Amino acid sequence: MAEASLLAEGSSSQDAKSDHGARIARVALDVPVHGLFDYLAPDDLSCGDIGSRVQVPFGNRQRVGVIIELATTSGIADSRLKPLTRILRDVPPLSPDLLSLLRFCSDYYHHPLGQVVMNALPTALRAAKPIKQRLKLAFRLSEAGRERDDSMLPRRHVVKRRLLAHLRQSELAEEEARAISPRAIKALLEMSALGWVEKIAAPVATSTRHAEIAEPRLTAEQQAGVDAILAEAPGFNVWLLHGITGSGKTEIYMRVIAHVLEAGEQALVLVPEIALTPQLESRFRARFPQANLVTLHSSLAAGERTANWLAAQAGRAQIVLGTRLAVFTPLARLGLIVVDEEQDSSFKQHEGLRYSARDLAIFRARQQNARIVLGSATPALETYYNARAGRFRMLRLTARAAAGAELPSVRCIDVSREPLVDGLSKVLLEAIAARFERGEQSLVFINRRGYSPVLMCSACGWKSACARCASYLVLHLRERRLRCHLCGHQEAPPIACPACGNQDITAIGHGTQRVEAALTRLFPGARILRVDSDSVRRKSAWQGMLTAIGEGRIDILVGTQMLAKGHDFAGLTLVGVLNADSSLYSSDWRASERLFAQLIQVSGRAGRAATRGEVLIQTQFAGHPLYSAVIAHDYTAFAETLLAERERAGFPPYVYQTLLRAEARAFTAAQDFLAAAAQSAARLGHPGIKVFEPVTAQPARVAGMERAQLLVQSPSRQSLQAFLTLWHPQLLDQKGKKIRWSLDVDPLEF
Ligand code: ADP
Ligand code: ZN
Ligand code: ZN
Repeated sequence: MAEASLLAEGSSSQDAKSDHGARIARVALDVPVHGLFDYLAPDDLSCGDIGSRVQVPFGNRQRVGVIIELATTSGIADSRLKPLTRILRDVPPLSPDLLSLLRFCSDYYHHPLGQVVMNALPTALRAAKPIKQRLKLAFRLSEAGRERDDSMLPRRHVVKRRLLAHLRQSELAEEEARAISPRAIKALLEMSALGWVEKIAAPVATSTRHAEIAEPRLTAEQQAGVDAILAEAPGFNVWLLHGITGSGKTEIYMRVIAHVLEAGEQALVLVPEIALTPQLESRFRARFPQANLVTLHSSLAAGERTANWLAAQAGRAQIVLGTRLAVFTPLARLGLIVVDEEQDSSFKQHEGLRYSARDLAIFRARQQNARIVLGSATPALETYYNARAGRFRMLRLTARAAAGAELPSVRCIDVSREPLVDGLSKVLLEAIAARFERGEQSLVFINRRGYSPVLMCSACGWKSACARCASYLVLHLRERRLRCHLCGHQEAPPIACPACGNQDITAIGHGTQRVEAALTRLFPGARILRVDSDSVRRKSAWQGMLTAIGEGRIDILVGTQMLAKGHDFAGLTLVGVLNADSSLYSSDWRASERLFAQLIQVSGRAGRAATRGEVLIQTQFAGHPLYSAVIAHDYTAFAETLLAERERAGFPPYVYQTLLRAEARAFTAAQDFLAAAAQSAARLGHPGIKVFEPVTAQPARVAGMERAQLLVQSPSRQSLQAFLTLWHPQLLDQKGKKIRWSLDVDPLEF
């Protein structure tokens, strides 16, 4: 670090507010170090460069950073300051709004600002060089071109003649021109050199392919919701749209978006998954065929992601539909944020920068004075609590939107005494058979992929444990592999027991593959499709599966929660749920909240159209209150019960938590680190902060690293933040031997 100066954030007050004399650029770099780095800037540095990317020397290589502040002086001697290599002005600088969102994110999650900033940028902008903006081009006739007589062009210029004929009708995007002839671009560039044709930037993502779909008449509840949202003066307001599955929440989002677009503002729609729910994207495109809609998610090609991000920044994109990372999209005219399925845990990043996109979205809406709508059939308990306390406004949709559509009937099948056929009860099998005969679809939901979760020797009790993790290797019979779902290790299944040589090794328990195999045997004529992350490796495969399901070419679906998310399968009338009990008595106290949401969500897949659906839950605990709440479709009663429990136990949302996670090769090293951290917390003696004992994390070992954690909590978010601000630098100073640790603010998993 000798070559660049490290300044603790906020340590200097000489920030230059104007261009006068500012000769030092304070740069955020993608390094795991808190603070900004000072560089000597060229003479042309100005305030307008704040938010620009820069290329700087760091160590023995060039890195990219972002200018956060300008300064006249540095805490580092001039002789040791290095000049920055160049300011990359290839794209506009990050706006002050966005920078302050990123700063907030860094402060709140106690994560280095440079890493927060880089995490927010598309890959192409993270490279220490200007981006090659292969801006897609379009062509149109120039004034001169329009006045020319095309018949003057020699006959042999076939391509040019055809292009000109097209250009007289409309502009031509690059791809359209290429479709006319492979030599089209060359010809167009020649004509552009002659001044007949002009190059213009092509509009991003043309959506003309989608036919506009007429708006349905809103139900009374929907209308009331739209009216309430729009009646409010534009500006910051958090709405919780609590609507049962199929109640038409998306329709409400679209009406409000239409309003926002009319006002010339931009809308940001955050969803848990896009790649998995192509139906959603096409619904939006169909509704807004004229609008410029771009998507932002991690399975986009790098170039497309950059182009879409730039379109949003430039204000060309009016609707941004994205996953959690899209919360950082630059949007100068933001008028609305929608967070659909706001309870979904994928809005929280579970490694590195552990942010919650939903929570940041609320911060961002306040900061940019925009509306925000959180939608869910089963709101996160925190969200529901905030609505109940009046911090968010609540809107309820209690009926399904489509005429005649009803919620499914839900029933438990007591399997505590009944013998099962490969995990399937007689009642469920008969129900599937009845659907199959009627030509309706069934879905068997089991949240475990693979064939069986463990192999066991019947003679000595040996189990197929992963050597590197505290977990078992899952048998994948299709591929004839044993796989660890935590570390990715895989090996061939043994022929005989590695411990005693016994050849009788049994597959214990069920996963999707085993259920699929059983159903294939039991229903030889049925078309069965398994959907899990193993069978859906490619997006195109998934598209094909969705089409097959939609066209009724599948009789029985077997799948994980991938199938539970927001799909509309018209022919599906039965959902069977296997193995839900495992979440009832989990060590993670949030497990029941998640299970309830998942069951409501997967139940919501049944009977979306005219026929009423049926949901059968196989369980050993048929009288459990959680199942009773699912049967009654009663979110509110369930949420109230959970809230009462949480209040008694002193859990969120009644307290705020932060988890210090540590891992090391040796468990004692992780534990010593946490014990020292607990001591330094105690020494700080911050009022209102409770520090727990370090405990083993679950799972206790992953990829050879032993894991432990320390919980701190407080009834006040401000106190907790104030404490973390003092505690965090002490953790950074603490000399742990080969410890990996991180702070998880508002953790969701324990
Ligand atoms: P949610 O997002 O609340 O689960 P959706 O918005 O997906 O619900 O709507 C469920 C179904 O109801 C969709 O097929 C949608 O087209 C239809 N729908 C929504 N609003 C209406 C309405 N006002 N009239 C008729 N059908 C509607
Ligand atoms: Zn054995
Ligand atoms: Zn493993």
